[in-house]
Amino acid sequence: MRQSLDLSGIRKGFGPLQVLKDIDLSVQQGEFLSLVGMSGCGKSTLLRIIAGLEMPDAGAVRIGGRDVTAADPSDRDLAMVFQSYALYPHMTVRQNIATPLRMRRLPFSGRLPLIGRLAAPRAVLDEIAAEVATAADTLQITHLLDRKPAQLSGGQRQRVALARALVRQPAAFLMDEPLSNLDAKLRAHMRDELVALHRRLGATFVYVTHDQMEAMTMSDRIALMIDGRIEQLGTPEDLYRRPATLAVARFIGSPT
Ligand code: ADP
Ligand code: MG
Repeated sequence: MRQSLDLSGIRKGFGPLQVLKDIDLSVQQGEFLSLVGMSGCGKSTLLRIIAGLEMPDAGAVRIGGRDVTAADPSDRDLAMVFQSYALYPHMTVRQNIATPLRMRRLPFSGRLPLIGRLAAPRAVLDEIAAEVATAADTLQITHLLDRKPAQLSGGQRQRVALARALVRQPAAFLMDEPLSNLDAKLRAHMRDELVALHRRLGATFVYVTHDQMEAMTMSDRIALMIDGRIEQLGTPEDLYRRPATLAVARFIGSPT
């Protein structure tokens, strides 16, 4: 299922601090859209509001036209990939990737492990195993399935986190600086891989980064945020050649 993602009139403050100031944004289905801006401009807060991890003070979040502003994160059909990967350390890679599927299809297995295991129908387990295998193959981590997260490199952990997001077949992937913990060489490599993955899946990606080069090379469109507002929204070429303000030109590094 693929759908557009629409934000309208989003405001958010923490105490006296106004972090998001009337954000309107429509992300098209299948688009790679980057939210870019300096540290502290509100990118993560906006992504967390889309994911449902944070409630806006005003405004609406819609997915495929459905108002999900107050919906639980699990009811939004989105997958969030964090910079810290957030893998379960006690589980193998295989179990990490299978967890979203088990939670959805074997609803008791998380809370009551023994009963869940006893009651789990063979066909469902086989189906889950097959989907885990496909996701692992896509991210080229099949040889790592029996390892624990502590036995993986940063790049490998990142792939596991992506595979775990992939099995849910979400309407959109939300990524918050997913490459920032990697060294420069691996980061460049993973950049290419993410672009290739986006092409292959045809899914919507909303990608947060403070690195304007990363956004320029990966995105269909860029929303450049300054101080809680979207200063300019356009293709990388738009922002580079036709910066709307001096602040955009400075951030992007356009000739002025
Ligand atoms: P970015 O991801 O662009 O670096 P954030 O969205 O994380 O920016 O943060 C924007 C501003 O909101 C920062 O000044 C940050 O300190 C503040 N902020 C974010 N989350 C909270 C919170 N839970 N409580 C108080 N202030 C917060
Ligand atoms: Mg952030």
